[in-house]
Amino acid sequence: MKNLLNKYLDFERKIETYTLALKTMLYDSSTIAPKNGNDYRNEKMAELSGEIFSIKTDETRYKILNDLKDSDLSIALKKQIFYQLEDLDKLRSIPKDRYIAYNLLINKAEKIWEDAKEHSDYRMFEPTLALVVEMTKEIYTYRDSETSLYERMLDDYEPESTEMFYDKFFSEMKNTIIPIILDLPTKVFSFAYKDFSTEKQKDFCSFIVNFLNFNSDSLYIGESSHPFSSSFSIDDSRITNRYNAFDFSSSIFSLIHELGHATYNSQVDREYQGMYIADNMSYGMHESQSRLYENQLGRQPAFWHNNYPKLQNLFSDQLKDIKVNDFIEFINYATPSPIRVEADELTYCIHIIIRYELEKGLFNGTYTTKDLDKVWNEKYHDYLGLTINNDSDGILQDIHWSNGSFGYFPTYALGSAYAAQFYSAMEKDLQIEKLLLNNRFDVINNWLKEKIHHDGGIYRSKEILLRATEEEFNPQYYINYLTKKFKGN
Ligand code: ZN
Repeated sequence: MKNLLNKYLDFERKIETYTLALKTMLYDSSTIAPKNGNDYRNEKMAELSGEIFSIKTDETRYKILNDLKDSDLSIALKKQIFYQLEDLDKLRSIPKDRYIAYNLLINKAEKIWEDAKEHSDYRMFEPTLALVVEMTKEIYTYRDSETSLYERMLDDYEPESTEMFYDKFFSEMKNTIIPIILDLPTKVFSFAYKDFSTEKQKDFCSFIVNFLNFNSDSLYIGESSHPFSSSFSIDDSRITNRYNAFDFSSSIFSLIHELGHATYNSQVDREYQGMYIADNMSYGMHESQSRLYENQLGRQPAFWHNNYPKLQNLFSDQLKDIKVNDFIEFINYATPSPIRVEADELTYCIHIIIRYELEKGLFNGTYTTKDLDKVWNEKYHDYLGLTINNDSDGILQDIHWSNGSFGYFPTYALGSAYAAQFYSAMEKDLQIEKLLLNNRFDVINNWLKEKIHHDGGIYRSKEILLRATEEEFNPQYYINYLTKKFKGN
């Protein structure tokens, strides 16, 4: 057995090494790499990712995993092998030539989507989207499963989630949230859209890194058009941000959000360094940690008690007459807008629900790509009271469908709901407000580490929720949180 285990660990080491190289190239390519080098770089990245694919799907490795799966191993290794076999069985179900053809299609589709978005013309993209949908169906048909095609996709992003589960969660959300949204008062915060130097925004971001007690020697913040977070190892977190002089709060909340992701990875138990389970958390679970940071913690008044004076000091011209309460009101203001990534925390879930209904409809035959833009616009009108005037602010705004990521969107809303449930459990153990007032974010991080982070991806979401909150998933926490915060404002 020892010999077998060593052989397995050799494979893992190699996969981890190549994966680190690929992550580095990806991070470089989304941040600093010049665009003229795109083609050559993409070709090399595709080669490296093909190499990783070959090692992962190596017959010897598959056999070793199967031989090891019932052996006497640590829980961490046992779970890891179980998840890896599950992934491999999914992958092995697809004929290799179809897998390659699918990846080629997706690479092409992303470029066509980009072009169509630039021209704000869904018709340019629609025939390609139809092909992506058809081929995604085919790819999922190979999988040995009793569930619907769309459910198989949902399962890839949030294991064990079902259509029934999301239907119930989302219909509860719609019933409560839509009436609140359609009744929101409007207000203009003109101070917030003045010119705020991006250099000073970066200075303020370093204050926030300190306040959140993140070790700055383990962090690098690059710039990219869409902020994201990538974990190279426990001591090496790469995140990105974007700075807009005329929308200063965007970089602040993106930073807090991405640091929520980074903190999750950096607080995984050191003994799992380099293992698959150090970074295989579900999309929903990972998102719960960033949303908890960004919304429940980052938008509450106590968070700003010590931080607002620093902000005001940096931007003395723009904020000198703006009281902390005005600022708090501004960062918690909710109003319907067409773009998902710019949405406030109340309307955000409706953007997700619309995408869920459309995706589900595409795969169960209710909708076709031909009428999808019309359905999109109708739902934005009915649920958010908005008129969508062009496709780039409408159906073309997100990259996900162009690269076949169907089933991904719902995890964003699920993460927000997990966050509300975690926050409610945290409130029972900690005096959160007092900790924020006293610059003791370390205590909050320790709670997260002990309850959630240190296990990495050993457990599935259902079990993590149960362990950390002593309760099964309950969307009512999220609904209550939003209702209490926004109803009758
Ligand atoms: Zn996120």
